[in-house]
Amino acid sequence: MTREKELTLKGIPAAPGIVTGKVLLLDREQYVIPKRSLKEEQVQTEIKRFKDALLQTKQEVLDIKKRISEELSTEHGQIFSAHLLVIEDSMLIEEVIAKIKKDKLSAEYVFQDVLKKYIKVFSEMDDEYLRERISDINDIGKRILKNLIGAREDALATLKERAVVISYDLSPSDTATMHKKNVIGFATDIGSRTSHTAIMAKSLEIPAVVGLETVTKDVKNGDTIIINGTHGLVIINPAPTTLKLYESTRKKMVAFEKHLLETKELPAQTKDGRKIELMSNIELPEEVTSVLAHGAEGIGLYRTEYFYMNRKDLPTEEEQFKAYSSVAKKMKPYTVIIRTLDLGGDKFLSQLDIPQEMNPFMGWRAIRFCLARPDIFRTQLRAILRASAFGKLKMMYPMISGLDELREANAIFEDAKKGLRKEGVAFDDNMEVGAMIEVPSAAIIADILAREADFFSIGTNDLIQYSLAVDRVNEKIAYLYEPAHPAVLLLVKNIIEAGHRAGIWVGMCGEMAGDMYMTLILLGLGLDEFSTSPVAVPEIKRIIRSVTMDQVREVAQQALMLSTGKEIEKFARRKLKEIVPDSATEAD
Ligand code: PEP
Ligand code: MG
Repeated sequence: MTREKELTLKGIPAAPGIVTGKVLLLDREQYVIPKRSLKEEQVQTEIKRFKDALLQTKQEVLDIKKRISEELSTEHGQIFSAHLLVIEDSMLIEEVIAKIKKDKLSAEYVFQDVLKKYIKVFSEMDDEYLRERISDINDIGKRILKNLIGAREDALATLKERAVVISYDLSPSDTATMHKKNVIGFATDIGSRTSHTAIMAKSLEIPAVVGLETVTKDVKNGDTIIINGTHGLVIINPAPTTLKLYESTRKKMVAFEKHLLETKELPAQTKDGRKIELMSNIELPEEVTSVLAHGAEGIGLYRTEYFYMNRKDLPTEEEQFKAYSSVAKKMKPYTVIIRTLDLGGDKFLSQLDIPQEMNPFMGWRAIRFCLARPDIFRTQLRAILRASAFGKLKMMYPMISGLDELREANAIFEDAKKGLRKEGVAFDDNMEVGAMIEVPSAAIIADILAREADFFSIGTNDLIQYSLAVDRVNEKIAYLYEPAHPAVLLLVKNIIEAGHRAGIWVGMCGEMAGDMYMTLILLGLGLDEFSTSPVAVPEIKRIIRSVTMDQVREVAQQALMLSTGKEIEKFARRKLKEIVPDSATEAD
């Protein structure tokens, strides 16, 4: 047997760690089709299942056809007649049924097999019209398969064996439903470091590489693959020597992490005694364990969108209250900052009928959506307020772009308080309410916002994308996404100084807070709080504990005199190596 050649691809590191495993290819166009054998007595049920899926698909297509005919024109609706012809093709249906009976294999497996044969025959035809029908067959085939096996999220959630998932893309909700034990790593063609999929992977501590462009074409199901999420590499069919090398690197990394964890009980304090709030970001309540295990002293960003995802209805006040209060209780006496609903951008909620937008990141999202849907917003605010009686909660609004929004949100908040007071429900009347600063306008008018906010938390993921005009999830322009860009640093500096002038504290919860090479500069600019993924906490703590404020102020000042992001990054890495010689970033 000839061994396949080792192939290394370089992408964008999304979540650190090294794993080796078998590939499960989950292209966006495909579903995972298990080869399931049937017992004789199951055959008839399987045929019925197939017929039901055809009926269900037919109904779906008829609905689409009707809608399109009404909304566009009858001609447009006719496009779907070709789809109906495929569903009604008796030869295809009979062939599938005959094969289920003969081979005693699951309907989806047989159907996919027959479909492939049809597509091959059509693609070899001379007739252009018939060749063009391939996309119809493909399309309808996928619909039938979907109805046979359910959505692909189910495949991710119910994965039986440990695997490395390879996919063109994964939505944040795909990632949220991943079977944590069995998805040991993943890699995608598109995406970037600050896409919510990458953020989710980091929280779940699943090593991941994104933006690989061709990985779905370069692997096959069952290939062996190494995911090096720390350096953004994947190695397909590694040679035995590579496997060995990686295993020893992995062991060293685990040992290093263990060593870092020894600082767990120590405060995040500079050598000259400046205490920094070092907190963590979470997406799901279960992550509290990891936050505490890594020695974070609070949660600086609790993203609540995931609560609304992967479900058909909206979460009730009671459900939200239970989740928020359980996080508050578990984290006591530490602070938990809950961010109100920030849907939109790359986080869509299927249960809300939100129209497709040309520019979703600049569209009807976050606080804009909440202010337009005060019913949904108030439910969340009431749940947060009620939970505030059970721990130390703070709350912040995402995507504030001007004072009107902050005031409007606060008015609804005050109204929610009034309601609870009337009902005699307990809550923390002095709960701090802050604004995320992630829109350039907010960064520029931070002085104005600081008068009416209790704190600021800088959302660099969005702040960078908006100020540099670089879509945070587009891997083609990832090279322009520069946290160290002088424009970004000037905005950060302005926000911190404005906050301090008004006497409020300023934190950072974007991914930049966990970028070790930026820690010295951010400390030097006066940042009061860092909120990072739990895995980054020990190293950031070690850096904080290794410096004095004079040292970092000097670093920040020098950085601000440089002219480009590349220069600043290079300078920052050099300084880090100088001041904290055995820092983990040396490997970068
Ligand atoms: C940010 O924009 O930096 C942030 C923390 O929010 P999110 O990544 O959820 O948009
Ligand atoms: Mg944001």
